[in-house]
Amino acid sequence: MSIEKLEFQAETKRLLDLVVNSIYTNKEIFLRELISNASDALDKLRIESLTNSELAGDDEPEIFIVPDAATKTITISDNGIGMTREEVISNIGTIAKSGTKDFLDKLREASGSAAQELIGQFGVGFYSAFIVAEEVELLTRKAGTDSGVKWTSDGAGEYSIEDFDKDTHGTTIVLHLKKDFCGDGEYNFTDAHEVERLVKKYSDFVRYPIKMNFETKGKDNEEPTIEIRTVNSMKPLWTRGKSEITRQEYDEFFKQQMHEWEAPLEVFHVKAEGTVEYTALLCIPKRAANNLYYSDYEPGLQLYSRHVFIMDKCKDFLPDYLRFVKGLVDSPDLPLNISREILQQSVEVKVIGKALEKNIQKQLGKMLKDERDKYEEFWREFGKSIKIGVYNSMFDTKLKDSLKDLLLFPTSHEGKLSTLAEYVGRMPDFQKNIYVAAGKDASAIEQLPQMELLRERGLEVIYLTDPVDEFAIQVLHEYADKHFQSITQENFELDDAESQKVKAEVEEIAKMHEDLLKDVKEAIGDAVKEVRLTSRLKSGAVCLVTGEGGPSLSMEKTFAAMNNPLFKATQILELNPNHAVFKKLESLHALGKDTQDFKDLCTTLYALSLLMEGVMPNNPADLANKVTDLLTR
Ligand code: ADP
Repeated sequence: MSIEKLEFQAETKRLLDLVVNSIYTNKEIFLRELISNASDALDKLRIESLTNSELAGDDEPEIFIVPDAATKTITISDNGIGMTREEVISNIGTIAKSGTKDFLDKLREASGSAAQELIGQFGVGFYSAFIVAEEVELLTRKAGTDSGVKWTSDGAGEYSIEDFDKDTHGTTIVLHLKKDFCGDGEYNFTDAHEVERLVKKYSDFVRYPIKMNFETKGKDNEEPTIEIRTVNSMKPLWTRGKSEITRQEYDEFFKQQMHEWEAPLEVFHVKAEGTVEYTALLCIPKRAANNLYYSDYEPGLQLYSRHVFIMDKCKDFLPDYLRFVKGLVDSPDLPLNISREILQQSVEVKVIGKALEKNIQKQLGKMLKDERDKYEEFWREFGKSIKIGVYNSMFDTKLKDSLKDLLLFPTSHEGKLSTLAEYVGRMPDFQKNIYVAAGKDASAIEQLPQMELLRERGLEVIYLTDPVDEFAIQVLHEYADKHFQSITQENFELDDAESQKVKAEVEEIAKMHEDLLKDVKEAIGDAVKEVRLTSRLKSGAVCLVTGEGGPSLSMEKTFAAMNNPLFKATQILELNPNHAVFKKLESLHALGKDTQDFKDLCTTLYALSLLMEGVMPNNPADLANKVTDLLTR
């Protein structure tokens, strides 16, 4: 029998290193993770045997746990689907999840409690075994095959794999415990009663029996007898009345059932007995999965019929923008042998899905009203999803209406997040539109020259800092009969009397400088559509604005990043007639529009206006030279 030694994939190695060096404070959770995997493996076998009757064995599905003080091991076995050699290598030797690398990079930068918090968001599943074990053996045989494999590793970078004769299908995992976990330290995972307590605590709702051996001391000198007992209640949590369930029970349920590492932010337990009868147990996790917006994230709810598990990741209940919601639906109105195809057509599924979507929207609205801090926590993790929902509501006014009041944006008002209603409530009477500005982040927007005057007038601006914001705002179009108006677009103007007066004055000055403006435009070339004077600047010399209705500069950047450079913003350069630079332009222009000095000043001003918008000019070296030149003049 040959033993093959293989290396873990690089990312797995780094992750294992973290696990082994045990950033996890909670050492017990390995048990929950391994039981979860065993339960999933039993589900998979049951589903497969519906279509392949040869797989259905005589043995009842079960999970068996054997703590053993003599060998300092704890063994977790299931008679589920098992794995082939190739599956062991790809499932256990690599981590396929997108975002793992990003996560590890972030983790490397974090330290102390920040690192703790981060790692808590990232379930390490099977690898959690190495929190407590110095060596792990995994013996497995795929159902329907007759040869097994043995996988062994100490978690240090390598694992070995060899053929192994295993009597039954399924997987057995033997953890050779580190000495702290066999009774010397705080924990003793070789003690049956301690393990029983943990199974009850973390895995009581697992739908397969979790069995253990218990020794009963014989009377007097009789030999002790061994009794096998099922430790978990197996009673599905959601069949109990809401009032009987504690929040802690819900939390443990989601951790066990949905592979969540932290207690969820919010739990929904819905029972309905209308045209379609169903129970749903849903949660909003505390944190967004690293790969939530990647294509390998699999959204969807678990589906049960009469408490029997039918399938996982059922996408047909909730719309895509609610992809972060986890949980299950149990309905007696859905047949046990329903296929994914039939499910897509199912009227019952549509009815349930619509009701759940409404319910989630309602609960979110309530959270926003009654528990603002919690809602903002939700928003930081999943706000993007709601904005994507608004964007997707382009042809669905009803959806738009139900989501618009769930939106939050950072604004220039005390740096807080605001709803649109709150913003509108603070608008002065003369302000007709809702002012918005797009940029990389709040501080980039605050530094836009266009902001100065607004700040001075005490006018509030909504910051669009996420690329999806602008798309969502475009789809919304208006709120409370007020249009969204970008402060960096050509047609922006302030509505108060003072501003209107200044505007008229600037128009007068512009009339007198038509030639100059034409020549500045000519010196810059086709990059800008127009050069004009503005009343929107105070101390700034220039700013760049974009054409009405077209994309903004930050939207253009988003498109460029998606390799779609066709989406170009129309650029208009605006000059402040009250700035010294304008006087300088005038005097250089008077010496001739073709002089190098005049041309240089024009192109430099344009390049600077790009920089202020966070856009790299075409020729940064040229700009640097010109600025250096100016500085030394
Ligand atoms: P996750 O469960 O989140 O996918 P794990 O690291 O816990 O991540 O497990 C990786 C994969 O290994 C699982 O998706 C599954 O395919 C396989 N696996 C783990 N434990 C078992 C088991 N007891 N039986 C069969 N397959 C298993």
